[in-house]
Parts: sequence; structure tokens; C-alpha cells
Amino acid sequence: MGLDLFIESHRDDMIRSTRELVAIPSVKGLPEPGKPFGKELHKALEYMLQLGSKMGFQTKNIDGYAGHIEFGQGDKMMGILVHLDVVPPGEGWTYPPFGAEIHDNRLYGRGAVDDKGPAVAALYAMKAVKDSGLPVNKRVRLILGTDEESGWEDLRYYFEREPMPDFGVSPDGRYPVINAEKGILHIAFRKKFSKYAYNSIGLSKMSGGQRPNMVPDKCICIFDSSANNDNIVSGIKRFGNSTGYEFEITSAENGDLLVKSIGKPAHASAPETGHNAIGQMLAYLAGLGQEDGEIEQYLRFLQSRVGMEIHGESLGLAVEDQLSGKLTLNLGMINIDRESGEAVIDIRYPVSYKKEDVLAKIEADAAKSGIEVQVLNYQKPLYVPEDHFLVQALMRVYTKLTGQPAYAMAIGGGTYARAIKDAVAFGAVFPGKPELAHQKDEYIEIEDLMLNARIYAHAIAELVSG
Ligand SMILES: [Zn+2]
Repeated sequence: MGLDLFIESHRDDMIRSTRELVAIPSVKGLPEPGKPFGKELHKALEYMLQLGSKMGFQTKNIDGYAGHIEFGQGDKMMGILVHLDVVPPGEGWTYPPFGAEIHDNRLYGRGAVDDKGPAVAALYAMKAVKDSGLPVNKRVRLILGTDEESGWEDLRYYFEREPMPDFGVSPDGRYPVINAEKGILHIAFRKKFSKYAYNSIGLSKMSGGQRPNMVPDKCICIFDSSANNDNIVSGIKRFGNSTGYEFEITSAENGDLLVKSIGKPAHASAPETGHNAIGQMLAYLAGLGQEDGEIEQYLRFLQSRVGMEIHGESLGLAVEDQLSGKLTLNLGMINIDRESGEAVIDIRYPVSYKKEDVLAKIEADAAKSGIEVQVLNYQKPLYVPEDHFLVQALMRVYTKLTGQPAYAMAIGGGTYARAIKDAVAFGAVFPGKPELAHQKDEYIEIEDLMLNARIYAHAIAELVSG
């Protein structure tokens, strides 16, 4: 059967598989024996491996960290890298985030496009090639990761035990082809406060954000009942009116005041599409007490060096290059109590810059304020030249299937492509379509799911046969 015919005749199967996978709420959870990222991720991994095995592929589960589905033979191996974990859904969804409901030919749900729909499309694409009778001279391995959104512990574990593919693709970005990905650094700013830290503003707790790589949509501050709460209430109202920032104020039974800053979530690689709830809160707090308590100093450091900035200007990081554009920065998480403070930023730096240079700037600045800097996560930049056989083949296939001109481009998002040498992100979002990853009301259009499978089938055929 031809590749396109196979995909079209499996339309209903593909939709069902995608819905079943999206319905598993595979947010990273607490480890259990054999389930390093929690039981929902274990379920999602098992779901895909069983689907692959039902289709007649070889499958392997690597101790619950990752798995693969494979066919073909030969010395060389093509890798297709996908991930089954999702970021928490956040609030404000029109349809239930794990309902996998279809409305107006869109399949809604957390993970629909990032990265479960594309993972299912890639699997059906492999099946189309396998059943097509085309000669295959390489192995094709669909690698299923389960910790992409956090620390990539899955692939580290996996590649300590399994061979690296010789080249690969990851349907976790955009079409046509992404041949450059910025370097990523997650950095914590920490400070311990003295036991009786003086705190002129009555702040007993501040917490916001769930992941470094998401623009936080929520940040909460709790002020003591002993603080001048009437002033805070009127101050926040005034501040909200003058800035347009959204705040909610509630009083707890014990008289404490709870202030919630409401932002707009987005992926940290495109911070300009969100509103940072932590940054908004810091902007308000910075206008309070001028006393030099430790907590105030810490807040002032964060406000003056990061605040609402998304290009790291005040940290001296406003750099850019031709290949990949501007450095971006996102203040993703904050946790402050009376004992200590921790804030985590996500930095995406251009491919021609060095991690050491970025770090040196930050460390020098933080040291002056007595703040400890720790690197929590680092991913080196990716760059595969446009004349590379892989980029050329993928661009050919893209144009053949869509009739659209192909080009190679850079992103700030980090895909699994950078986990192996000679790999690029290919799909799954088409040019001109909105970036829905990590946002509320994430969906994949059914027609895009189908076209992804067709493009992947042709790409696999192009790269492993003949
Ligand atoms: Zn993703």
C-alpha cells in the first residue's frame, strides 16, 4: 500500500490512539519502583510500547525511564525522538485538559501537539513505511522519552544503555526544519536569611511558577496580619490600575492577606507571548519598604536584574546573533519564606555564544549581592548546517508534501534533537499556525495530525530506503 493511502485509511485509528494517549495525565510525579517519573508517565510509556508491539514492531522499556519502538535493518540507525510527558495544564481551559475532546476538527488537551499527537503520527508513519514494501537499509527507532519537560534524566539514562542513532529528527518544534536551537541554562538564585531577618513589608511567603520553562501565570504573596494591610490593599489596587497588571486580594481567617498576581502562561522560549506573574508581583513589592532587610535586598536584586525583562538587559546579557536571534530570559519560579529565597530563571542564549560567558556575567553580579548561583540544567546549543544531507532531505520532503517552500531556521525551544549528533527538529507545527505548547486550550488540528503522519512517512522512506 502507498504511504499516503496507508495514513488516510488509518485516520480513525490515529485519532483514537492520540485521544487515548492525551487522556493519560502524564505530568511528572513522585517516583515509585520501576516508575522513576511517577505512575502516569509509566502508563503513557506502556501505552505507546503496547501500541507499537500490536503493530508488529520490536519494543523495549528501559527501566521506565524511556523506551523505543523499532524496525528495519542495517548498520546505521535513524532516531525519531518524541516525549510523552506534559507540563501541568494550568488554569482557564475551555475543555478539560485531559478530556481529549474534539471540537471543530481540533483535538484538545495538554500534550495534543506537545508532543503526543506528533508521537502517534510518527508511529503510524513508521508502520506505513514498514507495510509499504519499500526496501529499508537502516534501522528506524522511535525513542519515547518521559522527562523532556524537566531535566532530561530519561535520555541520559537511556543513552547510557542504548546506542546513539546516527542521525535523527524530533517532531517537537515547527516546520519546515529547525537546524539551530539556542543553548539553555536553568539557574537558581538562592539566599539564606538570618534567623530573625527583619522584613519591613510583613511578607511571610511568596511562591509562583511551576516550571522554569514556563512563563508563570500565578504568583502568591502572603502578608502577616500584623502588616499594614489596608495600605497594601489600596496600594495594590492603585498599582494594578496604573500598570494594567491583574491582582486578586483575599483575607485569610487569621487576618493574613493573600495577594495573587495573575499573568498569562507561555513557553519560556517565547516569553514575549506571556505575562510574567512573578515579575508583576516583584514590580509591586519593589515599591514597598525601603529598609535594607535581607528579604528586601533579595527582592530588590530580582526586581532590578530580572523583573519583567525577557532579554536579560539588566544582567548584561542582551546579546544576539544572525543564526538564532536574541537571548531570552524567563523568571519561571520563585519561593520565599522567612528562612530563604530561591528564584529560577530559564535562559536561552544564541548558538554562537558560550555558556561560560553567560554564567560569568550572572555569577559576578549575584556575588556582589551575596546571592548564590546554581546551574540546575544545561543543554548545549544545536546547529546542523543547511547543506547537511538530513536538512536537505527533510526540506525536499516538506515541499513535496505541502507544496510550500522549505527553509531552515532557529528556535529558542530545546528539543530532543540536541541529544544526538546530526539531528534536527522537524515539525510538528506548520508555519503561520499558533504556538500552543504549554498554553491553555492546547490542541492539534486533525488535518495537521494526518499531514504530520504523511510527511513523516515520506521522510522516513527518503532517509532509510534506496
Ligand atoms: Zn515538547
